[in-house]
Amino acid sequence: VVHENGFVRLDGCMADDLSVVNAARVSFGTRKTEMDDSDKGLIGFLMRERHGTPFEHNSFRFHVKCPIFVAREWFRHRIGSFNEISGRYTVLENEAYVPVGEYVREQVGKPGAYTFTPLDKDLADDVSKTISDQVNQSFRTYNYLIKMGVAKEIARVVLPVATFTEFYWTVNARALMNFLSLRTHETAQREIRDYAFIVEGCFKDQMPITFDFWEKNGKVAP
Ligand SMILES: Cc1cc2nc3c(=O)[nH]c(=O)nc-3n(C[C@H](O)[C@H](O)[C@H](O)COP(=O)(O)OP(=O)(O)OC[C@H]3O[C@@H](n4cnc5c(N)ncnc54)[C@H](O)[C@@H]3O)c2cc1C
Repeated sequence: VVHENGFVRLDGCMADDLSVVNAARVSFGTRKTEMDDSDKGLIGFLMRERHGTPFEHNSFRFHVKCPIFVAREWFRHRIGSFNEISGRYTVLENEAYVPVGEYVREQVGKPGAYTFTPLDKDLADDVSKTISDQVNQSFRTYNYLIKMGVAKEIARVVLPVATFTEFYWTVNARALMNFLSLRTHETAQREIRDYAFIVEGCFKDQMPITFDFWEKNGKVAP
């Protein structure tokens, strides 16, 4: 669970470290059914030398619920497949992300070198309330338009990017590592990082050796 109403769920996967080894070893016409130390070394070599394709023979399917502004950043990752709930066919839930506490922050510095500092608690509480009032007003208008018989695809234009959306994302480990490099990084927006760290945990569980070498390699995708 992320940000109260959001979540990341590993819905299914076909992924293990052995698939990397066998994809690489097919070059020599050999195949393994169990990993040994030389196979671990091979994964390390592939990662270090950025031989990326053996990391593509697997698949992770995630079910995600997050604010639209997080999904929008997520959807920029083209190597993978997405399907999302439709605001044309479904009346969207009245659920929006409202930052609270230390998530209410100020931004200092230049692009690429911003730092973020939490606002003073009283001010942060005020900001949370202002945002909450605004999103509630948007939902009231949305519900009113729906009640008036306005098409869902038009009524939704009043909804904020904080509104929660839901999607499935299927991705291989190579593209996943690229996503994680960028979206767990401290320069990524804090909200998407919260989701990315959960995704990272799922990746680590399924492909622990690959994860280990990726991390040792400075989280650079091969
Ligand atoms: C901190 C941060 C700030 C950002 N700010 C902005 C911003 O201000 N504006 C903005 O528009 N975007 C911004 N982005 C999005 C960014 O530009 C990428 O679109 C996004 O991170 C997806 O990365 P990707 O292309 O590596 O991933 P994917 O699309 O998943 O691609 C994976 C890899 O496949 C290869 N690939 C995929 N498509 C192509 C292609 N057409 N040609 C060649 N190689 C390809 C590349 O090697 C790529 O790294 C930001 C991202 C981050 C992390």
